[in-house]
Amino acid sequence: MKVFERFSEWFAYCAEEGIDLAESMVRYEMELKGRSREEIYARLERAFQVMEEAVRTGLEQDMRSRSGMLDNWGKRVARSPFSLLGPRVKTLIARALAAKEVNACMGRIVAAPTAGSSGILPAMLTVAMEELAIPRPRICDGLLVAAGIALLIERRAGIAGAVSGCQAETGTAAAMGAGALTYLLGGSHEQVGNAVAIALQCLLGLVCDPVAGLVEVPCVVRNASGALVGFAAAEMALAGVPSVIPVDEVVEALGEIGRSMDPRYKETAMGGLAATPTGKAIAERVLLRDIPVLDAPAEASDTQNAP
Ligand code: SF4
Repeated sequence: MKVFERFSEWFAYCAEEGIDLAESMVRYEMELKGRSREEIYARLERAFQVMEEAVRTGLEQDMRSRSGMLDNWGKRVARSPFSLLGPRVKTLIARALAAKEVNACMGRIVAAPTAGSSGILPAMLTVAMEELAIPRPRICDGLLVAAGIALLIERRAGIAGAVSGCQAETGTAAAMGAGALTYLLGGSHEQVGNAVAIALQCLLGLVCDPVAGLVEVPCVVRNASGALVGFAAAEMALAGVPSVIPVDEVVEALGEIGRSMDPRYKETAMGGLAATPTGKAIAERVLLRDIPVLDAPAEASDTQNAP
């Protein structure tokens, strides 16, 4: 089985074999997991359905998180009278917020690549399908390319906030969406690499600083910005804007920044927004509310947990 370490190797392999990026991922999955082509595509279709459901759920059901920090932000944007950059951008933002809120409210999502960044691909792919006339079956090919992108970033730099900060989580999701979109719109391998690299460049250095240690604030709003960065990166790459720094070197830079990042900024909730006076007060409130729940009899717990 051919295993790649770098984007340059992946692209060269596809060029030599005369296959496209999605096909190479199908072959990888067939060899690695022993699944048939039909089974792989059925699973991808199911994953995309879950993404669509997350968007719908976030926009239709009550999305107030148990901590009290989140309160239907996706719906607020969707229903707002403002539309500063037009309906398409507004929809993208609302969907990214909504799908991520579903995760924060313990609903079902696809971790792509992580739960913390689970609003970015659903927003980007549903908007791309509806607004850019990408046929539904092709979305599965886009998911395959997105998976290949995440695999390579994971190998060289990491995709978890606890490993490399939020640049690795929302940054990777934005890069996955940017690369998938560029591929789906007919971009060359080089342009896909540029889209990934540009998206990562835009988010390099972003720390992981979740308030009260909950994947809510700033995670939810970063999903909206990640989706926007992903679209902007694809737009630039398709227009011929280069990354200048090759994609593999950008991934190395992400890893280098992640390794040198202070542990306070790696999901420990000890730095950044989590360490602000308000962040600390919220953490204390959440902690004080939850500790009695653990010790109290069931009846009392229910009362204390009432919204
Ligand atoms: S701030 Fe941390 S927990 Fe939140 S999305 Fe970013 S990496 Fe994930």
